[in-house]
Amino acid sequence: MKSFTYERADSPRAAAAAIARTPNAKFIAGGTNLLDLMKLQIETPAHLIDVNHLGLDTVEKTRDGGIRIGALVRNTDLAAHKTVRRDYAVLSRALVSGASGQLRNKATTAGNLLQRTRCPYFYDTTKPCNKRQPGSGCAAIGGYSRGLAILGVSDQCIATHPSDMAVAMRVLDAVVETVASDGTTRAIPIADLHTLPGATPHIETTLKPGEFITAVTLPRPAGGTQVYRKVRDRASYAFATISVAAVLQPDGTGRFAFGGLAHKPWRVESAEAQAPQGAGPVADAVLAGARPTAQNAYKVPLVRRTLAAVFSEAKA
Ligand code: SF4
Repeated sequence: MKSFTYERADSPRAAAAAIARTPNAKFIAGGTNLLDLMKLQIETPAHLIDVNHLGLDTVEKTRDGGIRIGALVRNTDLAAHKTVRRDYAVLSRALVSGASGQLRNKATTAGNLLQRTRCPYFYDTTKPCNKRQPGSGCAAIGGYSRGLAILGVSDQCIATHPSDMAVAMRVLDAVVETVASDGTTRAIPIADLHTLPGATPHIETTLKPGEFITAVTLPRPAGGTQVYRKVRDRASYAFATISVAAVLQPDGTGRFAFGGLAHKPWRVESAEAQAPQGAGPVADAVLAGARPTAQNAYKVPLVRRTLAAVFSEAKA
């Protein structure tokens, strides 16, 4: 690990200001992804700004009947929160399907959203990777791509976003709140937070340099039957091969978001009009434009089967 300097921020705005004035600085909260990246020298920040002591660790009701989740609420606490379990069950289920108990105890809401891909070549500094080193190439295209993306891919990158939590937040229409160093705040729909790789796979979000996530809000509960189904290579401590977050209503309407398919949580709102016709028509619409590799073409039928299982689970 390269040496770095360290400071503790005492307010969200001070954290944003500190990162704006310090070259090559990073925020650190749970550190469950960043520290691994630093040990491998994939991330080499010269300065860390510790945001663990800012508060931002509560879940509060909003005036419109939703909830505001502080950026530093730990994944374990969010999954176990009484209101989340009762009214946003898909989020609670997605959280407990992620990582391990120890990691969930440390990992934060904002950090989970901003975690980086687990593409194996991103972590192998002997291999080309446009995300790690722009312009160097992509070892995954034509290489080992079994776990990588089939939707929204580019000729520069086929990485997936690894979060389970973000997939559930996408189906729940979460909004990400931020503050910049000048005190300016923004509310970013989660659909607009993560980007597709295009020609710039090293750019993963629409956050501006130094912009600091303070909270995630969820609108009033969507009701219905909420399901998170994750398919993975082993029963725990594994990233999704694919996952489906669903909210299905008694009248047959529904919403669906998918993990393990793209560089961002994948949701096709126009496909949801097909929900009363069943899983097959929804899957057809979601998978339109899929560009699998020979190694991950199995994800196409797996999406169909998993969505069918979600529909069955919701009816049971
Ligand atoms: Fe890097 Fe993306 Fe290619 Fe993986 S898929 S090697 S992250 S450029």
